[in-house]
Amino acid sequence: MVATPAVDAASAVEGAWGSGIIPAMGVLRFDNVSKQYPGGHAALSDVSFAIDAGEMVFITGHSGAGKSTLLRLVHLSERPSRGAVLFAERNLLKVRGRRVALHRREVGVVFQDHRLLSDRSVAENVALPLILRGVRRGEIAKRVRAVLERLSLGDRERALPGQLSAGEQQRVGIARALVGEPSLLVADEPTGNLDPTLSSEIMALFAALPERGTSVLVASHDLALVKRMRKRVLVLDQGRLADDIRPEDLADG
Ligand code: ADP
Repeated sequence: MVATPAVDAASAVEGAWGSGIIPAMGVLRFDNVSKQYPGGHAALSDVSFAIDAGEMVFITGHSGAGKSTLLRLVHLSERPSRGAVLFAERNLLKVRGRRVALHRREVGVVFQDHRLLSDRSVAENVALPLILRGVRRGEIAKRVRAVLERLSLGDRERALPGQLSAGEQQRVGIARALVGEPSLLVADEPTGNLDPTLSSEIMALFAALPERGTSVLVASHDLALVKRMRKRVLVLDQGRLADDIRPEDLADG
């Protein structure tokens, strides 16, 4: 019998670097998270999972399953009742006061209804997060132009949101979430108001983000669309994590 040498964690990581395999970095981790709203029943019960840097993950489940609640815990608009949410190994319980705004710089958020300011141009809407942060004007102009080009909105920068199609409006919402170069993008039913063709276009945009270093977490109840994307899928059922399906285990069709 061959004895297996004991390998401690540090040398295992070193070995991985040495062999050219980069160890996966955790971006987000839920450890036994439960959430109960005041007076309500449990919106999330004992949910645990982890997402690595550069992963794209869907959360699916029926209406009321807890998808939005899970995303709210990530961008700190809600706090867990029990358990811990870790972002880049940092326990979000400890992120309070002014540090909440700093945390939100690292998490871009896309909403179903995109929440654009109707009296501001596309460029002004996208610039807003950088203006709030006090970024220099020249730098803002450069970054806004770059992200609008990337989302094929370069020729729409002076338009008002009301002059855009639904798909363009959602792309502006995504541009605004990306302009701060977050390490994680979370999106809550981002294609809820779009037809199937536009929905696929928006999902393809999200799918291209991980290779540029942004992890993506998308809540969607559109099971057919989720299956077509062939990414990892977390399934919530009445607040419980019912399944964690790897892309290779997804059924066809
Ligand atoms: P989903 O996004 O999957 O539709 P939600 O996270 O919105 O699910 O909701 C999960 C459960 O929590 C539901 O039973 C819902 O009614 C309840 N809930 C959501 N938000 C609140 C809130 N602010 N106050 C009380 N209950 C809430």
